[in-house]
Amino acid sequence: MKSVVIIGGGESGVGAALLAQKMGMEVFLSDHSLIDEKIKVELVSKSIPFEEGGHNFDRLLVAEVVVKSPGVPDHAPALRMLKEKGRKVISEIEFGSMFYSGFTIAITGSNGKTTTSGLFYHILKNAGFDVELGGNYGKSFARIVSERQPEYMVLEVSSFQLDNIDTFRPDISMLLNITPDHLDRYDYKMDLYAAAKLRIAENQTENQYFIYNGDDIEIVSRLKENTTQAQRIPVYAEQYKNGLLTQNGNGYYDFVLLGRHNLLNGQCVVEACRKMGLTENQINEGLSTFVNLPHRLEKVDVIDGVTYINDSKATNVDSVYYALEAMNKPVIWIAGGTDKGNDYSVLLPFAKEKIKALICLGIDNQKLKDAFGSLISDIYETQSVRQAVVMAHDFSESGDIVLLSPACASFDLFKNYMDRGDQFKEAVLSYKNICEL
Ligand code: ADP
Repeated sequence: MKSVVIIGGGESGVGAALLAQKMGMEVFLSDHSLIDEKIKVELVSKSIPFEEGGHNFDRLLVAEVVVKSPGVPDHAPALRMLKEKGRKVISEIEFGSMFYSGFTIAITGSNGKTTTSGLFYHILKNAGFDVELGGNYGKSFARIVSERQPEYMVLEVSSFQLDNIDTFRPDISMLLNITPDHLDRYDYKMDLYAAAKLRIAENQTENQYFIYNGDDIEIVSRLKENTTQAQRIPVYAEQYKNGLLTQNGNGYYDFVLLGRHNLLNGQCVVEACRKMGLTENQINEGLSTFVNLPHRLEKVDVIDGVTYINDSKATNVDSVYYALEAMNKPVIWIAGGTDKGNDYSVLLPFAKEKIKALICLGIDNQKLKDAFGSLISDIYETQSVRQAVVMAHDFSESGDIVLLSPACASFDLFKNYMDRGDQFKEAVLSYKNICEL
């Protein structure tokens, strides 16, 4: 391969460009929108040619291979044109894998990818492995490979990254769950979205492992006809039904994360670690010292005996399900934002059982009010995080939990889920200061 065109100027596009350059290829990066200033500075400093705000089709056609950023949909005009002209289109992880010779662990799922990849990386790093973490979150795979060849690579992989793989073949693949998400990119067809997720195991061979959630019907039903050669390792809730992860013959691991969803994530990682030959001690050390990223069931503080939890990353119903399930005290639930076609019915049992009040934090809250109106007597609306915190405090009594777990995207009132979570944390902390005056 001598020349590459990269479509999309995000982290994975730049990573692919850097790797192509390192491998001595001619490279050109093209984005139909404007490219972030920081990224442009990097491209210029590395003398990588690029264009933004539109595509010069003639220039794109010079390339033999096209590397597509995961954010660019397949039906984008430039990609359609390139495919019609016979150019091969691959994803950035496919491109990265062509130049990486170490041991790859790839993790996908609708929810839990970042947590599980971070946990896996932490255990390996803590045990002294030469390992890097990247992919969908943080550094792109291609960027890491352009910098160095670690012995082990833990990759968080999204369905969009799996769409255009060809030979990508992780030594260990992991599929945590498949629940409706991003269906707008898959013609609103669950089958297409699920097929993309299952591609993680498609090229694996018989000496490689495919670890998956054996209780997930979307996965299990599709696996009946699946032709992956990998050794299949299903993980079942039965294995951690008492709320603990079991050591091999030797009691329980000291696992720090809350909730049944995290037990699934942890059990998947444990299975993989055992296949890689880690000792029970090494696994336990990692499980007991892991600190998850913010915005995922993150304990913020306690005010007057009420615990405030930030789960702003819960942007779909499934992740809220596990958050509410994990709460063992009465909950004042803060939810809402940009609805992604949510069906709240699976949350209704919690409404009766443990939700004392619902505070809708969004511009249009009608759907939430319709879904929960008959079950929760106290439902309030606000568009201010500070007000939401004060309202929540008014409803709570010592021992309760105030949970921000929105089930929605954040773009109606915030820049992104991190901004929403940060503003919530700040509101809680400043309210605490006022209470203590
Ligand atoms: P992703 O990277 O797939 O978006 P994260 O690890 O960032 O996943 O977690 C996103 C949300 O999903 C958080 O609210 C988290 O508590 C929840 N979550 C984590 N693991 C799971 C799981 N296995 N099933 C359902 N929800 C999960």
